Amino acid sequence: MAYQTINPYTNEVEQTFENTTDEELEQTLATAHQLYLEWRRDNKLEERKRVILNLGRLLRERREEYAAIMTRDMGKLIGEAEGEVDLCASFCDYYVANADQFLAPEIIATTSGRAKVIKQSLGTLVAVEPWNFPFYQIARVFIPNFIVGNPMILKDASNCPASAQAFADAVKEAGAPAGSLTNLFLSYDQVNRAIADKRVAGVCLTGSERGGATVAKEAGANLKKNTMELGGNDAFIILDDADWDLVEKVAPAARLYNAGQVCTSSKRFIVLEKDYDHFLEIMKDAFSKVKMGDPLDPSTTLAPLSSKKAKEKLQGQVDLAVANGAKVYYGNQPVALAGQFFMPTILTDITPANPLFDTEMFGPVASVYKVKSEEEAIELANNSSYGLGNTVFSQNYEHAERVAAQIETGMSWINAGWASLPELPFGGVKNSGYGRELSSYGIEEFMNKHLIYEARQ
Ligand code: NAP
Repeated sequence: MAYQTINPYTNEVEQTFENTTDEELEQTLATAHQLYLEWRRDNKLEERKRVILNLGRLLRERREEYAAIMTRDMGKLIGEAEGEVDLCASFCDYYVANADQFLAPEIIATTSGRAKVIKQSLGTLVAVEPWNFPFYQIARVFIPNFIVGNPMILKDASNCPASAQAFADAVKEAGAPAGSLTNLFLSYDQVNRAIADKRVAGVCLTGSERGGATVAKEAGANLKKNTMELGGNDAFIILDDADWDLVEKVAPAARLYNAGQVCTSSKRFIVLEKDYDHFLEIMKDAFSKVKMGDPLDPSTTLAPLSSKKAKEKLQGQVDLAVANGAKVYYGNQPVALAGQFFMPTILTDITPANPLFDTEMFGPVASVYKVKSEEEAIELANNSSYGLGNTVFSQNYEHAERVAAQIETGMSWINAGWASLPELPFGGVKNSGYGRELSSYGIEEFMNKHLIYEARQ
């Protein structure tokens, strides 16, 4: 497997990285395990907090540099990449500020004696991460686990190796001891061997269902704790009492941000019959105004997709949807640019029999559905194998919350597009995976909640 930066705007191979040898993997496992043992003996939380503070400072100082590395790797707009670096820095602030509280022992109320739960690290983790947010995906698993004291071996996506290495280098420069975060260019087979290794305690993966199922199988076979952050087909439900000025402002961006390559992008827009034509016009108007071009140019508003493969896959999905009766309301035309651009596209008339009805489309393609009632909207939103997030629009908060609570997802956003903040738990249900990242929930995933108990004599 080749780890390469192939700039999706120019199609040029900018950098190629050597695959990790088995000896390097073995050395990394040994170093990480020693570090885990050292942290178990002598907690060193204060030292780790200082490292994370330094990391936050480095991220802020070098936001432009890091953002450009991500843009070259996978094509995202430079402004969005800078926002991503800022968000990662905010994770540093959050976990340092809350570390003592998250790791404080919990006294258990019992009349039978005295009991408490102490919060301990679990061991070395393997992190398998995707390319769509090259820094953010690493940051949201690395920072909390480093605070806990779990060393991490990173296997990042093969198409954003420069970003993964830049993040790992920043961690080292921030003062983290060797073994804290090691970025390796591993084959799938080496990932499996690392998961099976006795020195590895768990694995976290963000990626597709296919990748997740394979890695989770290996983790299961070796009884390793794992978390899976997988795909989504999020609904965007516009209720009868929605604020349409807000809908107009939010809906197009909820689909087009990061060129539509977000697990929590709104992908299925569910609209009442009476509002359907109006909504289609709003989306078409916004989609027709995007400016495709160099993602390093701040005036560009729609980035290329991450790779040739990603573009071909999306085109195949749209073609299949159309072959099965979907109608193209807007878009689906070739783009006269060399990069991996995909014209923003609006599909309608996708029936449950269409193979794309229950498939995630990772790019700027909005599927719009017409329903007769709120009940039908809820039913349609839930008619999905996925359960990551959803969005509900209503000017009546209680109404929106009532509807949101009926959707089988891990997250619901009201009157806004999807969001990720350090204090908000992130994760899904159904085929969108299990476990949570970020917030207090995220830091607990790979924590040994160790009971210490003395019975009354
Ligand atoms: P992917 O193909 O599953 O790749 C994700 C990562 O898993 C990459 O590092 C990939 O390595 C690795 N991988 C895949 N199969 C593997 C295997 N059998 N053994 C070991 N490693 C393996 O996912 P993707 O299509 O690039 O990423 C987009 C997907 O991620 C979408 O479905 C999106 O919704 C989801 N996602 C979910 C969340 C969330 O929080 N729920 C967030 C972001 C993205 P290679 O690159 O070398 O193949």
